[in-house]
Amino acid sequence: GVNVLLSREETYADISPVKLDSNGVSSFVSIMRGCNNMCSFCVVPFTRGRERSRDPLSIIRESKELFQLGYREITLLGQNVDSYYWTPSENETKGWGQPVTFANLLEQVALIDPLLRVRFSTSHPKDITDDVLHVMSRHENICKYIHLPVQSGSNRVLQLMNRSYTREWYMAKVDRIRQLLPGCGITSDIIAGFCSETEDEHQETLQLMEYCRYDFGYMYFYSERPGTLAARRYADDVPEETKKRRLTEIVALQRRMSGESNRADVGRIVKILIEGDSKKSDGHWMGRSSENKVVVFPKNGITKKGDYAEVKIYGSTGGTLLGEFI
Ligand code: SF4
Repeated sequence: GVNVLLSREETYADISPVKLDSNGVSSFVSIMRGCNNMCSFCVVPFTRGRERSRDPLSIIRESKELFQLGYREITLLGQNVDSYYWTPSENETKGWGQPVTFANLLEQVALIDPLLRVRFSTSHPKDITDDVLHVMSRHENICKYIHLPVQSGSNRVLQLMNRSYTREWYMAKVDRIRQLLPGCGITSDIIAGFCSETEDEHQETLQLMEYCRYDFGYMYFYSERPGTLAARRYADDVPEETKKRRLTEIVALQRRMSGESNRADVGRIVKILIEGDSKKSDGHWMGRSSENKVVVFPKNGITKKGDYAEVKIYGSTGGTLLGEFI
């Protein structure tokens, strides 16, 4: 759709890739542009400007149209979705009497149809609210999955990055998510070897990862981007081989934790939205759980793309869960 084209133009700052290829089942809707944060490694504040939230009625209209076209999953996109905020002042005639927060918007999109799954990306740890977590817990069709980029586990490095939270704040946020949404999938972005990062600070990142037990992570070593605050203020002084070795340790830890997370799913029955044929065989479906795990399972001759399936997990291979119809 039109919106997919709009979304393609965005350059997302948090480093996880957003897959915008349409499979006819999952789609993306931009809800805001720009970002008011000033993370020192990020170009977005300079290239995308101040935050502008989109009219909620047009977001809901577009989401309904996508549902009517057969899409069964919508991801609400923004650099920092939790700071979505729309005030009705210029648009009072359109029927929204009061400001609309991200929690309000998320709930309205979830109410379009129980068969429509709703996801969102990206959340900033300092901005995600209990209201959002409560809305998620009230609606089965809002996926229990939060991408919550931490970037570093060291308070000094977080401050240099200008992330405006501490490791303690972040860990308390993860505790809160697990308390209100037991079993919720949580993933992160992590940068190894940011300017002046010490060995101890790197260890703090590894410890924080263990604490958070991420299901998956997008991990990179720091590379300076021209025009950013970090490029102007800080020397990119961690030697490349040190950055790479730290990244290797981070990746190894995440691989172990992802494996543990997948093994913990064995024996569970999960509801999968079928996205299409599995890459390896057209005798198998590929889909995702609410927690955003990819699951492959043999077709049963009745289901089709865009249907939901109850699948029992019996194992995993690489990052993929293996299941079968129950
Ligand atoms: S929150 Fe930080 S990393 Fe994300 S877009 Fe804004 S400035 Fe960039």
